[in-house]
Amino acid sequence: MSVSEKLLRKYAELIVRTGVNVQPGQIVQLTISVEQHEFAALVIEECYKAGAKKVNVDWTSDVQSRLNFTYAQQDMLSAVLPWEEAKMKQMTEDLPCRIFIVSDDPDALSGIDPQKISAVMQSRSAVMKPYRNAIEGRHQWVIAAHPSEKWAKKCFPDAQDAEGKLWEAILRTVRVTDDNDPVAEWKAHTDFIEEKAAWLNSQAFTSLEYKSSNGTDFTVELIPGARWEGAGMKNPLNDAFYIPNMPTEEIFTSPYAGKCEGTLVAVKPLSWNSQIIDGFSITFKDGKAVSCRAEQGQELLEKMIKMDECACMLGEVALVPKESPVNQCGFLFYETLFDENACCHCALGMGFKEVLPGGDDLTVEQAQEKGINDSIIHVDFMVGADDLSIDGMKPDGTKVPVFRNGTWAS
Ligand code: ZN
Repeated sequence: MSVSEKLLRKYAELIVRTGVNVQPGQIVQLTISVEQHEFAALVIEECYKAGAKKVNVDWTSDVQSRLNFTYAQQDMLSAVLPWEEAKMKQMTEDLPCRIFIVSDDPDALSGIDPQKISAVMQSRSAVMKPYRNAIEGRHQWVIAAHPSEKWAKKCFPDAQDAEGKLWEAILRTVRVTDDNDPVAEWKAHTDFIEEKAAWLNSQAFTSLEYKSSNGTDFTVELIPGARWEGAGMKNPLNDAFYIPNMPTEEIFTSPYAGKCEGTLVAVKPLSWNSQIIDGFSITFKDGKAVSCRAEQGQELLEKMIKMDECACMLGEVALVPKESPVNQCGFLFYETLFDENACCHCALGMGFKEVLPGGDDLTVEQAQEKGINDSIIHVDFMVGADDLSIDGMKPDGTKVPVFRNGTWAS
């Protein structure tokens, strides 16, 4: 399948108008691989048509990144140069719309010492984090995808037209076809998610209990008053409604950091820092991951959990029914944007302060006091087994079925 320019334009327009929702006079910061320069041109044009004042592009390259990790010293890669910091600082003033088009080769860094990768990420993130905190909840952003040859080959190693197959899947999950009205379909989809989120909020569950036959047996406490959210959000500065992830199927909240017990068994491999962790489970005690087992990537998983003091605690729990179109595609995308929308998941690391009432105005420290985890990592892993059941505990002690057999109980 070769994708027609008409379809590509439709997709680019959806990302710009329905996804990040560029408003007249806004600056746009686009992050995209050099390999995707043709699609970048379509996105840039759509941004200007939507009234963008200026579109800046951060070009990325898997090849460059691999060469850097192969040849450059760790301290050189770890250093955030003054101009890089100035650029982030500028962003805290401009508050641009940010568009990220992912197309990464999941194996781009395979064979590189995981210690080197995590050390570089750790020191760079530490410098960048204050700036990221400063724009958090104050700008519109969207992550969407575009196939690349290597990514497609990873998903479909034996296919003749791997890229075509990946395109087909991506467009299916973002609800773009030749003759549909994707804007109307996204409206219906986001309405459904909002309805479920409203129900969860009305239940005011104090905790959730997870069970499935693969060994998942887990309880997590929720923060009183913290909201379940999904699909879209509003930029509080201009009221623009944007959809940060395309596709998106999840309804999520941040649980009480440090208050969970039991074992979560992953049902899909995880691609982290371009390396694979597979066949794994994580056991929590007093809210902290105290042990983990992986058939593949044990060392990497251990590193991840120890990235900083709070990387061992949860920052997110998310509900996704197994009927999700991502799951229906029936293959692993090796990309969190898709794989986390296949089924229920949890994330280690940073939580979302905006789920708290007035959360946007809280500092990270204030949010932490209220139970929102903070860390330099945020890594989603899938726990949505086909027979997963989840019960919600109400403040009066009654139990309400939330999920049965991997999908909404009602
Ligand atoms: Zn999530």
